[in-house]
Amino acid sequence: MKAEVEMKRGAEEKKSHLWNAMHKYNPNVKPTVAVSGEGSWFKDEEGNAYLDGVSGLWCLNLGYGRQEIVDAAAEQMMKLAYFPLTMNHQPAIQLANKLSELLGAAYQTFFSNGGSEANETAFKIARQYHQQTGNPGKYKFISRYRAYHGSTLGAMSATAQANRRFKYDPSAPGFLHVAPPYSYRSLFSGTSEEKDMRAADELEEMIRWEGEETVAAVIMEPFISGGGVIIPSMKYIERVSEICRKYHVLLIMDEVVSGFGRTGEMFGFKHANGIQPDIVTMAKGLTSGYLPLGATSVKAEIYEVFKQEGKDNHFRHVSTYGGHPAACAVGLKNIEIIEKEKIVDRVRQLGHSRLSELRNLQEHKHVGEVRQVGFLLGMEMVEDKSTKEPLSDSKMNEVVGACKQKGLIIGKNGDTVPGGNNILIIAPPLSSTEEDLDFIIETVKSVIRSI
Ligand code: PMP
Repeated sequence: MKAEVEMKRGAEEKKSHLWNAMHKYNPNVKPTVAVSGEGSWFKDEEGNAYLDGVSGLWCLNLGYGRQEIVDAAAEQMMKLAYFPLTMNHQPAIQLANKLSELLGAAYQTFFSNGGSEANETAFKIARQYHQQTGNPGKYKFISRYRAYHGSTLGAMSATAQANRRFKYDPSAPGFLHVAPPYSYRSLFSGTSEEKDMRAADELEEMIRWEGEETVAAVIMEPFISGGGVIIPSMKYIERVSEICRKYHVLLIMDEVVSGFGRTGEMFGFKHANGIQPDIVTMAKGLTSGYLPLGATSVKAEIYEVFKQEGKDNHFRHVSTYGGHPAACAVGLKNIEIIEKEKIVDRVRQLGHSRLSELRNLQEHKHVGEVRQVGFLLGMEMVEDKSTKEPLSDSKMNEVVGACKQKGLIIGKNGDTVPGGNNILIIAPPLSSTEEDLDFIIETVKSVIRSI
């Protein structure tokens, strides 16, 4: 019997040469093979239907099966299948113009293929900008612990979650980390806002101690997503922006997850007052995941430094597929639909009236804190509310598994403490129907009440 099982396993393994992302090898677990999708739902090869409660990897903002987006890609491919951005093409020009309009000021956009690349591009622009404005010593980047900014070497170096790094360190030099505005687990005391402001003070201290003449930029998400959905007081974001201005440090806003409506604003930074980041990085919701695309938008004043006549000051950076015509056409169509269907208002309203019902679970003994903005929700699970010990991995797996059994895919994330992976993530497509949202709420409630 045992030999038979072994043989079957061996045969299964032989079938697939695919190396899955983030997949711990376990011969008894077969990753779901999806075959089709419509709206917020996908089907696997056995015909089971699942509601995609994390929008793929928080990217499928408009859900599956949008014919208009598919048509935009196909038409563009027939017209001009490929063209490099060492020259120009219409979809890239139009999309760059649209992004500048949405960002609310004059921005110049460099396109790439995804979020990690968008951040790498931002780092190189920041360093070169300082070099070309008489501050060649400004090369360091500061990010916050628990932040995720990508998987490539520079972006991983800005990523400050030990578990994602320790097998690949040493990371690139020049990347520093400070405490995040994480009031639920903070060394600072006071109200949530006071704790967040102390985290901002710490950032200022770091710039002063490192020497402002050495710091190029701060990179932050408005709401840390992959590190466990951390939602700071808006005053914190405003204060960080002020500190950056004071020390002539660029502010890079990573809107890879929070961009394009996820939080109930077109961009997450728009929740704060008077913020206009120097650089904004985008991917995921820019195309709703239909094709890969990354964007790094820099304020016009920064771009000026790269185009002074007669100087060798251009940006020495190129990406073969970055800003692919079909991806840009998809991006344009995606934004057109977001605007036409008033997706941003919808997320704000339904986030408030429906999804926020999950906040009531906060009374449950294993729910330490529910954090939510728009369609981005994290539930910090604990063994015990007084000690805040993270819920064990096995119980977290049980919750995620039980939701899947009932037809709902949710995520888990965190790195609250080394080995802690205790934040449940719920981030459905922004086009989810009210019935979809009710299904999520009812399923999560019933599963959590059963632990
Ligand atoms: N920044 C943030 C905030 C992200 O969440 C991610 C991806 N999860 C990235 C950057 C990297 O994006 P990509 O996987 O497209 O390289």
